[in-house]
Amino acid sequence: MDIKRHVDLQPYNTLGVRAKADYFVEVSSLEELCEAIQFSSSRRLRRVFIGGGSNLVLRGDVQGLVIHVALLGISCEALGDERFITVAAGENWDALVKYSLAQGWYGLENLISIPGSAGAAPIQNIGAYGVELANVLVSVTGWDVALNSLRNVSLSDCHLSYRDSVFKGALRDTFIITAITLRLQTSPALELSYPALREALPANCSPTPEIVAETVARIRAEKLPDFRLEPNVGSFFKNPIITANQAKALLAEYSELPHWSMPEGRVKLAAAWLVDQAGWKGRRLGAVGIHPRQAIVLVNYEAASGGEVLALASAIQADVSARFGIGLEIEPRIY
Ligand SMILES: Cc1cc2nc3c(=O)[nH]c(=O)nc-3n(C[C@H](O)[C@H](O)[C@H](O)COP(=O)(O)OP(=O)(O)OC[C@H]3O[C@@H](n4cnc5c(N)ncnc54)[C@H](O)[C@@H]3O)c2cc1C
Repeated sequence: MDIKRHVDLQPYNTLGVRAKADYFVEVSSLEELCEAIQFSSSRRLRRVFIGGGSNLVLRGDVQGLVIHVALLGISCEALGDERFITVAAGENWDALVKYSLAQGWYGLENLISIPGSAGAAPIQNIGAYGVELANVLVSVTGWDVALNSLRNVSLSDCHLSYRDSVFKGALRDTFIITAITLRLQTSPALELSYPALREALPANCSPTPEIVAETVARIRAEKLPDFRLEPNVGSFFKNPIITANQAKALLAEYSELPHWSMPEGRVKLAAAWLVDQAGWKGRRLGAVGIHPRQAIVLVNYEAASGGEVLALASAIQADVSARFGIGLEIEPRIY
């Protein structure tokens, strides 16, 4: 295990924020992960785990040990038409989607082109184009710091919901995901309920998982800025979920506000619409700004600090709250 000092974290976060890690280590085995945990415990260092760095904001330098989870490996168990795939946490998510399609294992096609690692996928129950990780997840394996051992968390115990899970709550920072197990199918069952996906499918063809994946990848490439050129973390704000009564009042005034029904009568609102209507789409505040095509994507145009990014986010939250009475919640984890 090679623990480095004062490591530049800019290449490790897709927002391109300048920050340094006091200590930094890449772990590619369970033994190295345990060693890194012991090292940080013995020196009373704070631990920060990162995968692809596509869903975090570094407010400043990290006083502690940054542990880059880089465990690799994919295994498969066949049971009839089902394929149970166990994927190590450090595998790249998008590469996994492409690999599964090439093997004829279906179920991940709508989740193509999402940056980051497989291990982080359960943390916010990644979702796109009508599919969430919850649709295919069987269980999550990880190192429980409190128990000092590996353990398995079943799907029901993961408490997955919209951009949320037990790993953001009770198990935050104490459960390090080492692998996830997914249930995929050799017979495709396409999920085409998402209107923008249906509309973008090529005309006069019966869609296959490969066509769905190509279509989603194309829409995403057209819609979302490439973080390698315009550093970002995807959606910066969650779509707010409000009560039926709140929604009734808001929609009476703004009937054009895009919204979706949720369980228990609650209503999810389009954060992008709220930000756009508050006048922020395409606007810049110094080195950071809101993308001109995507009101929900903050772009770090000139290697600004995490503080500058968060100042822009606060200004947007204040405007949206003043205009609509809605509190926007930041999606990425802030360190
Ligand atoms: C252009 C772009 C588009 C995106 N589109 C989508 C989308 O469509 N849908 C969606 O849901 N998300 C989307 N995202 C967000 C992001 O890609 C996902 O949340 C992804 O799962 C983050 O993976 P990561 O490895 O980069 O996580 P990181 O940013 O490295 O980490 C995120 C959080 O997870 C924790 N973590 C990471 N790995 C582990 C581990 N092994 N064990 C325990 N904790 C861990 C970290 O400590 C941190 O708190 C997008 C991001 C970008 C930049």
